[in-house]
Amino acid sequence: MSVKSPLALQVQGLVKHFDGVRALDGVDFEVPAGQCVALIGPNGAGKSTCFACLAGQQVPTAGQVLWQGQSLLGKPPAERQRLGVARTFQVAQTFEALTVLQNIQLVLRGAAPLAWWDRLDHRQPERALQLAVQAGLQDQALATVADLPYGAKKRLELAMALAGLPGPGAEHGPSLLLLDEPAAGLALAERADMMALVRQVASQGVTVLYTEHNMDAVFGVADRVLVLMQGRLVADGLPEAVAQDPQVRERYLGQEFDMKGLLDALR
Ligand code: ADP
Ligand code: MG
Repeated sequence: MSVKSPLALQVQGLVKHFDGVRALDGVDFEVPAGQCVALIGPNGAGKSTCFACLAGQQVPTAGQVLWQGQSLLGKPPAERQRLGVARTFQVAQTFEALTVLQNIQLVLRGAAPLAWWDRLDHRQPERALQLAVQAGLQDQALATVADLPYGAKKRLELAMALAGLPGPGAEHGPSLLLLDEPAAGLALAERADMMALVRQVASQGVTVLYTEHNMDAVFGVADRVLVLMQGRLVADGLPEAVAQDPQVRERYLGQEFDMKGLLDALR
């Protein structure tokens, strides 16, 4: 069993410049183990870049990223995943020609490497089905991904990210799931299903950080909200506090934003 730090994730002075663009301009935040945190902000604020620095697709210009007290910088994405850090992408990345189960079987943690003569279908089928069921895909387990509606693809992508992480429960070690717009392109009802799945994953002890544009997928879902604008965090707090923050209302949510009304409407 690995040592657990109460501060699962620590992001310190994170900077990422692309030529002249300051995508991240000194970002600091910490996430305690098991918290479900929404990272919100306008297009171009730096949310996806932040995820890429955490998961290893981008190398930060400066700053530090600590997971369980250990620096992730310099480690390739696969090594971060072994340490319990996985992500999904803004646009779902799945293998269209394979079935739902096969997509999960391809990326299962701890599975033996596949040789050309091995049957993918024989790789931990029970564990793969369990993940499909968790993502609400039990009826589509044998469907070809190309035939799935987009909402199902997004849930499959989440199941695939989970497949690469330690199993749920303390004995498997801590994990961090980074979800870049998990509900992007989904209609309200599908979005609610997706966010219920995100909450369920968090309730199993997985630390979750996700980005989102739809406020119905933020308020009532996240334990805490971070607001990023032009590469800087302008708010970090409980959802009700962030909803009342004058700067956040003026620059992002809008003065008419009514958190209570939104939550009542969703009920
Ligand atoms: P968000 O996800 O909040 O919409 P991004 O992180 O995608 O924001 O982008 C932040 C800024 O960084 C934008 O100005 C974007 O154009 C720029 N950017 C992001 N990725 C790259 C890249 N690979 N090369 C150059 N500029 C980039
Ligand atoms: Mg983005």
